[in-house]
Amino acid sequence: MANAVQDSMLTDLGKRLVGGSLSDESLMRATGDTPNLALVPWANVVKIGGQSIMDRGRMGLMPVVNEIVANLPRHKMILGTGAGTRARHIYSVAIDLGLPVGVLTVLGTAVAWQNAQMLQYLLASHGIAFLEPEGFASVPHYLMERGAVICQGMPPYKLWEQNPEIGRIPPQRTDTGCYLIAEVFGARKMIYVKDEDGLYSADPKKDPHAEFIPRISVQELLKRDLNDLVVERAVLEMMLNARHIREIQFVNGLKPGQLTAALDGEPVGTIIYNADAPKGAVS
Ligand code: ADP
Ligand code: MG
Repeated sequence: MANAVQDSMLTDLGKRLVGGSLSDESLMRATGDTPNLALVPWANVVKIGGQSIMDRGRMGLMPVVNEIVANLPRHKMILGTGAGTRARHIYSVAIDLGLPVGVLTVLGTAVAWQNAQMLQYLLASHGIAFLEPEGFASVPHYLMERGAVICQGMPPYKLWEQNPEIGRIPPQRTDTGCYLIAEVFGARKMIYVKDEDGLYSADPKKDPHAEFIPRISVQELLKRDLNDLVVERAVLEMMLNARHIREIQFVNGLKPGQLTAALDGEPVGTIIYNADAPKGAVS
């Protein structure tokens, strides 16, 4: 294409991007000047814990499934599944065999996938489908048609998963995958359903004196550098660069009504919020 034609077709940003360096900070800043479009701002992402809920079988999962069904007429939901204990077992076998992080991620993804399959069949009578990552462009359609859709929670990095700073466990697991879905779709809420009331100053299963934290900023939480967390650390780090998701919420799936309250916008459980101004332009 002749330069003159090309120039007349390009926006100012277009001209800079075509000819400039993608390492130029002012140019990169300019790419944030239009608001990020929220694709499905009425959808809620709900992650159902692997170890904390699904591994408990009927007793842990069915009340959550029933609560999801009861909420279908009022709230649209993208349902992500955790992996849990079977993933920990396969990680131990794979580590014993010397396999790298990317292979562990493939294996962990298969476990989250199993849990998504089980959830799909439990919700089959409501016509709720499971979508593989390749089918994700259809998420809005499924949400409009059936009110909910199921996905496995792992981000689909598989062999491409990065190494953690320490050790060999994939650092971006199902909390992260569900968070990334909420962020890219500009979802209304990111709710984690686990087996504790929310975040504590330490793991409440190990420390009976752990203090409950109903609300905390992600900046403050990272500064506190707690030994153990209710959520993958990668989620907290990603929240700092979020364009849409301003807060994430943790509720106890073993307590009926908590998921519903969170979907209704009530401050149940713990809310971790971003205290900084939103990044990029605001719509
Ligand atoms: P999932 O089932 O979604 O994978 P995890 O088992 O990874 O969930 O995380 C939930 C668990 O995290 C809780 O059951 C709790 O025992 C543990 N946990 C560790 N540290 C904390 C903390 N600071 N506050 C609350 N829970 C914590
Ligand atoms: Mg986990």
